Amino acid sequence: MAKDVIEHEDDSDKDYEDYCYLCKRPESVAGKLIHLPNDICVCASCMQNTFDTFSSNNNAMQFVDLNDFDLSQFGFRGAQDIPKSQKVKKKQEKKKKEEPELDLHNIPAPHIMKAQLDEYVIGQDYAKKVISVAVYNHYKRVLTGTMDDIEIEKSNMLMIGPTGSGKTYLVKTIARLLHVPLAITDATTLTEAGYIGDDVESVLSKLLAAADNDVEKAERGIVFIDEIDKIAKKRNTNSRDVSGESVQQGLLKLLEGAEVEVPVGAGNKNAMVPLTTINTKNILFICGGAFPDIEDIIKARLNKQSSIGFKADLKDKYDKDKNLLQKVTIEDLREFGMIPEFLGRLPVLYTLSALDKDMMVKILKEPKNAILKQYQKLLELDEVELRFDDSAYEAIAEKAMEKETGARALRAIIEEFMLDIMYQIPRDESIGRVTITGDYIKGTGAPLIDMRGVEALEG
Ligand code: ADP
Repeated sequence: MAKDVIEHEDDSDKDYEDYCYLCKRPESVAGKLIHLPNDICVCASCMQNTFDTFSSNNNAMQFVDLNDFDLSQFGFRGAQDIPKSQKVKKKQEKKKKEEPELDLHNIPAPHIMKAQLDEYVIGQDYAKKVISVAVYNHYKRVLTGTMDDIEIEKSNMLMIGPTGSGKTYLVKTIARLLHVPLAITDATTLTEAGYIGDDVESVLSKLLAAADNDVEKAERGIVFIDEIDKIAKKRNTNSRDVSGESVQQGLLKLLEGAEVEVPVGAGNKNAMVPLTTINTKNILFICGGAFPDIEDIIKARLNKQSSIGFKADLKDKYDKDKNLLQKVTIEDLREFGMIPEFLGRLPVLYTLSALDKDMMVKILKEPKNAILKQYQKLLELDEVELRFDDSAYEAIAEKAMEKETGARALRAIIEEFMLDIMYQIPRDESIGRVTITGDYIKGTGAPLIDMRGVEALEG
């Protein structure tokens, strides 16, 4: 026992992490620590806070010599006083798989890209086609710089589609297929610089992090800004619109291409975080949003057009038009509250359709990584076959349609009924096959269970 303790104490220091003496976070969490005299380490944000406190107390703190810094007033002790038992052992660094990088000379042609997308994303053919062409053109443009005298316009995109129709999923899939870094951010968290919230540059910090702090890689990445409709200009407001129109204004220079100073490894700029410069010229920006009620704007416009001349009698013609969203134009989006300069920088505009029941069933069955396939794989490890009959697929899809959150509802529904299955099945080793039925999903029946012997006889 005593030997154990001695051996433990002898462990080399390199296996242990330093941690911040103020907030107690280890270096892997708090970021690079600043080493002060007496083996004291402080993280950048605590150091910043300390400076802030100083400068507010002393009006202005002109200069601080770290060696004169009396840390004992904060209750600091030397590192030697800290027993090993209170230090945090470093996580073993996982060996990273060598990721293939985007080869600009070898970008898949649009039809190949679309075929690859088809393996994951169900339906949304139009969107898949547009995104494949736009991404192909974008990376060709990145490769060639400019083509002769004609500079090809950047293919930033705006995609409109109801919740859970696959907007984020589409972007994630394309970024994965192309092996480019992707940052996903939510426009609702963005505010004008200087206000509470993230300023627009924070999206580039995220991208840089996704590219493992490799600036060159980040400069070829994709930024997806979700919920873009939430930064529409606020109507009838007297207060300053710090999270709406001004965020649109703030995004303009990023969308177009600018050199932006970005903090490395942190979301916001402060004196202690190193900065790097990212050029956004080759970054592909994709904005997505549900734009609720924009149908009313589209309808009003179409009705106004058709009320001129002889089409006047068809006034309510668009009321039941399911594809109304596809008729969206830049004018409708302006009316919604997006500013023209912003829209002008998103030249590729397309819509995704709401998922119908058939598409939901396909989402359950077909994608390479379909959730049900994942469960089947899990149970396969216990040598149990999991089957779904057609009525089960229908019932799950019907339940999901009721929730009106698109394919997002599927996972919640599946997890709810699979919990019991995953709990009960491993209990009984004689079970060889489970068949989920529509009745089970609806709560009016039980799943069909086959014992191993029966299954073998059938097989
Ligand atoms: P949103 O349009 O709100 O961004 P998401 O892309 O986040 O929706 O979709 C939520 C989830 O639903 C995805 O993670 C994906 O698993 C599934 N999903 C949505 N649409 C599709 C689709 N067309 N094909 C396959 N899966 C989809």
